[in-house]
Amino acid sequence: MPETNNPLRRFFRQPAIYIKLPSDGNFYPPGTLDMPANRELPVYPMTAMDEITYRTSDALFNGAAIATVISSCVPAIKDGWQIPSIDLDTVLVAIRIASYGHEMEFESACPHCEHENAFGLDLRTVIDGIKSPDYSATVNIGDIVIYFKPLSYQQVNANSLDQFQDQKLIEILPTANIPEEEKIQQLSQAFAKLTNMTVQAMAQSIAMIQADGEMVVEPEYIEEYIRNCEKDTFDRIRDHMAELKKSTDLKPLHITCQGCTKQYETPFTMDVSNFFVSAS
Ligand SMILES: [Zn+2]
Repeated sequence: MPETNNPLRRFFRQPAIYIKLPSDGNFYPPGTLDMPANRELPVYPMTAMDEITYRTSDALFNGAAIATVISSCVPAIKDGWQIPSIDLDTVLVAIRIASYGHEMEFESACPHCEHENAFGLDLRTVIDGIKSPDYSATVNIGDIVIYFKPLSYQQVNANSLDQFQDQKLIEILPTANIPEEEKIQQLSQAFAKLTNMTVQAMAQSIAMIQADGEMVVEPEYIEEYIRNCEKDTFDRIRDHMAELKKSTDLKPLHITCQGCTKQYETPFTMDVSNFFVSAS
């Protein structure tokens, strides 16, 4: 937002916390991140406008609300859509801390005795537990070296929306009131589309491929390579990506049941259902 000479400026919201990005500013397209000299980004609490944007959306679905709230609360990130996926959890948890404090009520049912355990979770430990995957690691196959990169939030969002719509279609088609032949045709199209999306997401995760001393960065060439490489190669790329993803997953919470004293693990995710202090 352009700065004005408003005498009320010093009464505007102030940064509540500062964060280091897991990416350390890598993978942002030029002009989409203002990295401070000390590499710590100020995070502001949500304004009433941000809360309204975030809460009232279907936009939650298309991700536009989240992208808007990110660049409002972390103004160093100029375009919330371009944030690399590895920074997303850190930034969302930081916005939650800046807006409502670091303590979060968390509830989970014990899988052994079904006791409802409620406890306070310190979100700072969640941020401290987020690791950045090693994107300097390459996959080497013969004379080919493959370099990886995280997807942008925009790509993650578009992919999951596509996948959601396609899976919905696959669910409803069997009972749809259309001729059997058409059903089968549409189903096979929907499955082909799912496969296609997997290949596309793989290609999007490859930064470049070095071959015969030449660097290939063109997304269409990379995608074509994925479609035409040997199965072993495909599997090695896919496994490497799965490893990268696993290292960015939020750590599960270790819980000791207050009812039966047994221990169990439960996943922690940062989504709408637990983002706000009191969901209304
Ligand atoms: Zn229990």
